[in-house]
Amino acid sequence: VLSLGVDIGGTKILAGAVSESGQVVAERRAASPAQNPDQMVDTVSNMIQQLISEVGPVGSIGVAAAGFVNLERSNILYAPNLNWRNEPLQLRISERVGQEVFIENDANAAGWAEFRFGAARNFQSMVMLTLGTGVGGAIVDGGRLMRGGFGIAGELGHITVMRDGRDCGCGRKGCIEQYASGTALLRSAIELADSSDPKGERLRELRSAAGELSGHQAYQAVSENDPGTIELVEQASKHLASAMASLVAVLDPEVFVIGGGLSELGETLLSPLRSELAKQLPAAGFRPVAQVVRAEFSNQAGVIGAAELARESESKL
Ligand SMILES: [Zn+2]
Repeated sequence: VLSLGVDIGGTKILAGAVSESGQVVAERRAASPAQNPDQMVDTVSNMIQQLISEVGPVGSIGVAAAGFVNLERSNILYAPNLNWRNEPLQLRISERVGQEVFIENDANAAGWAEFRFGAARNFQSMVMLTLGTGVGGAIVDGGRLMRGGFGIAGELGHITVMRDGRDCGCGRKGCIEQYASGTALLRSAIELADSSDPKGERLRELRSAAGELSGHQAYQAVSENDPGTIELVEQASKHLASAMASLVAVLDPEVFVIGGGLSELGETLLSPLRSELAKQLPAAGFRPVAQVVRAEFSNQAGVIGAAELARESESKL
């Protein structure tokens, strides 16, 4: 039996029909009407209906969104990039499509995809960190997704790594999101290129050739082994390892799964992350060191995880 998954982001919406083994068998994508909640409900409901008309009736429907989902999994309490404040998303979409839908946070959904079918499928306890525009997180302990007392556990991007550090959109300062997201790394690259530091020379060249310095140019500098840019990646991994060491103190996971756009840097990011984590661990040298692996699903993780969580919720009813 197929399950549908929808992943609502700030710029695009992905939807897919997903098999019991986590294969996406049909897919739809649309631009995200991020600032208009009514249009969002329309767009998502239409995508669900189109997929059902393509693949036939489905057993369950899961919708993942970039926001705080309440413990009852009915409302989006807060979504900084989507203009939702206590939005009863579950009810509104369920009414439109004539079938109950399940709501989940997008990072939790992506983490569940990795836990069930991807990089963490052989583990029972994992922490996933999604390094994209921001830093998302998901925690699985003893085979269960950790949701916390109010449904909002796993907002790992807001662990403080720098006292009085960079301002964060959450209202605090020094959050890991401001040091180890794709956005943060690009910002550091632009700062280096703007400086007169000789380490920024290659970034300056790439910027004048392309007319801009975006993630693409930064990625190119890394793949050319530009020492200045690699140093920025290593600094980001130090900060990230510091947050991960704190997570180890609390959660003791077997594995960290690293996803999101920055994970495309592969071993350039993961290798310093592993050595820094081993150094920064509490009681380093006297405890097992969690593995650090790259996520296996890229764009489809949210769709696969939302569909699977919905399937599992449905089977428990
Ligand atoms: Zn924050």
